[in-house]
Amino acid sequence: MANTTAPFLSHHELHKAILAIKILVTWNEESRLCANISTSSDRFTSALHQNKDWAAQIAKEDPSLFPTLANGQYPEILWIGCSDSRCPETTVLGLKPGDVFVHRNIANILHAGDLSSSAVIEYAVRYLQVKHIVLSGHTSCGGVAAALGNKQLGILDPWLLPLRQLRQQNLDLLNSMTPEQANLKLVELNVLEGVKLLKQKNVVLEAIEQRGLQIHGLIYDVACGVLRQLDTDESEEAIKARLTSFKTDV
Ligand SMILES: [Zn+2]
Repeated sequence: MANTTAPFLSHHELHKAILAIKILVTWNEESRLCANISTSSDRFTSALHQNKDWAAQIAKEDPSLFPTLANGQYPEILWIGCSDSRCPETTVLGLKPGDVFVHRNIANILHAGDLSSSAVIEYAVRYLQVKHIVLSGHTSCGGVAAALGNKQLGILDPWLLPLRQLRQQNLDLLNSMTPEQANLKLVELNVLEGVKLLKQKNVVLEAIEQRGLQIHGLIYDVACGVLRQLDTDESEEAIKARLTSFKTDV
C-alpha cells in the first residue's frame, strides 16, 4: 500500500515535489518570523503600522484637523520640559497636534546662552504669540539624580552645571532630606530657577507687559500622570526690580 502513488511519479518528479514542500515550509516559517518582528519584537516597526491607524482614527473623529493644520499652526502653549520618555506633553495634557509648541532637553534646564531653547522661546513668543509658557519638571528625573550624585558624566557635566549650582546653594537643605525628597526639591528649585530665567528675557518681559503672557511652573508626577502647579508669584518689589534690571528698549 505504501507504494500506491509512487508508480505515478518519476524519481525526478518526486524530487521536485519534495523540494516544493521544503520551500513552502521555509516560506511559512519566514512569514511567521516576519509577522512576529512586526507585531511584537520591534517596537518601531509596529509603531509605524500603528501610525496609519492613528491618522485614520483622528481623521474620522475630527475631519477638519489635518486640513486645518496643513495651513499653519496657532498653538497657545509653549511647553519646556524634560526629554524623558515618560513626559509626553501633548498626551499628558490631553491635547492634539497643533496645540503645543515644544522644547525638551535633559532635565528641562534653561541655560541663558543656549541657542536652541532661546530660538524656540523667541519664535513661540514673538511670532506664534503663545499665551502661556509652561516650564515643567518631573518626579524621578534622571538628570536631577545625576546632579545630586558625584559621578563624571562627560558632556552631561557642563549641561547639568546649573543643577549642581542649585545643589551647592541649597546643600544643607538637600543633605537634610531623604534621596527621594532631595530629588523632588531639586526638581522644584530647577523649575523655579527656569521661570526666573524666562522672565529675564526681553521678549518674554515685553509679552507679559503688552499682552498678558502667562508663565507657569509645573511638576509632572510620572507615577500617577498628574501635573502640579508651583507658586511662581512675585512681590510688587521683585517685579519692579526685575523690570528695572532686565527690561531693555530698542
Ligand atoms: Zn527628566
